[in-house]
Amino acid sequence: MTAKILDGKVVSKEWKKEIEKKVSELKENGVTPFLNVFLVGHNPASEIYVRNKKRSAEKLGMKCEVIHYENISPEKLKEEIKKKACDKNVHGIIVQLPLPEHIDPEEIASCIPFKKDVDGFSPYNLGKLVRGEPYFIPATPYGILKIFDHYGIDLRGKHVVIVGRSTIVGKPMALSLLLKGKDATVTVCHSKTKDLEKITKEAEILIVAAGKKRLITENYVCKGQVVIDVGIHREEDRWVGDVDFESVKEIVEYITPVPGGVGPMTVAGLLANTCKAAEMSLKNG
Ligand code: NAD
Repeated sequence: MTAKILDGKVVSKEWKKEIEKKVSELKENGVTPFLNVFLVGHNPASEIYVRNKKRSAEKLGMKCEVIHYENISPEKLKEEIKKKACDKNVHGIIVQLPLPEHIDPEEIASCIPFKKDVDGFSPYNLGKLVRGEPYFIPATPYGILKIFDHYGIDLRGKHVVIVGRSTIVGKPMALSLLLKGKDATVTVCHSKTKDLEKITKEAEILIVAAGKKRLITENYVCKGQVVIDVGIHREEDRWVGDVDFESVKEIVEYITPVPGGVGPMTVAGLLANTCKAAEMSLKNG
């Protein structure tokens, strides 16, 4: 039997309607959620992602400014971020990754105040997530949790295997699944994991964020599983994921497509966090 599709386009559309409603309410109270996106260098994929974020934000009635530098020193970048951080009309600040090699992303994330760190990558916000009291859940894990919610996929006590331990996807995903109320049992795999095939087959839910095209084939999955593919790669004239969709969909129960799975949910997650930042600024004056 072919797997049911977990449709990120449908779920994100519904989520965006909720966000749009919140934006209108905020505007009635004199606040327009405003996102600032820092972009450094010329990475064609990053430029597309940033354009999508801006277009989506504006469509929901939010403001979004992209601050693009051909090149910039880490010191100057930090200075520019700090200037925006002081602007009370700016609610969310993100720095598009990857950054050029001479700039340390951790150091940059540290200079965004936690209330404006809508990507949730600053040490403070990651620490809050570790403690089980997140202020912002990073956008990709947040979007994936919404997919589970929408399709009524209960996480309690489920064995979730995550392939990938990055700070932007794998680790915050694991921490989000351990939150009270989610209560999953989590295994995190990475490039040094032995016997990956055996471990992924033991999962009830498999989340793949390895950045390796079609890493997960039919040999890594089994019947009844839910498979979430975070990976995204350009291949000639189309996009493919970390999961070999064609063979895996014949075995598992649920699967996200690429494109149209996790991608649109990540954008919605970022906009939801920006809206929350604006809401909090209104509450706290
Ligand atoms: P990353 O390169 O920072 O991390 C990849 C992780 O996968 C590492 O922890 C590594 O140890 C692990 N890994 C690599 N090869 C492996 C293997 N053969 N077996 C087991 N583990 C392996 O990547 P990332 O930033 O976490 O992103 C992962 C993928 O998700 C990329 O394709 C990226 O483009 C995509 N991505 C998509 C979205 C979205 O919205 N759809 C958002 C973020 C990232």
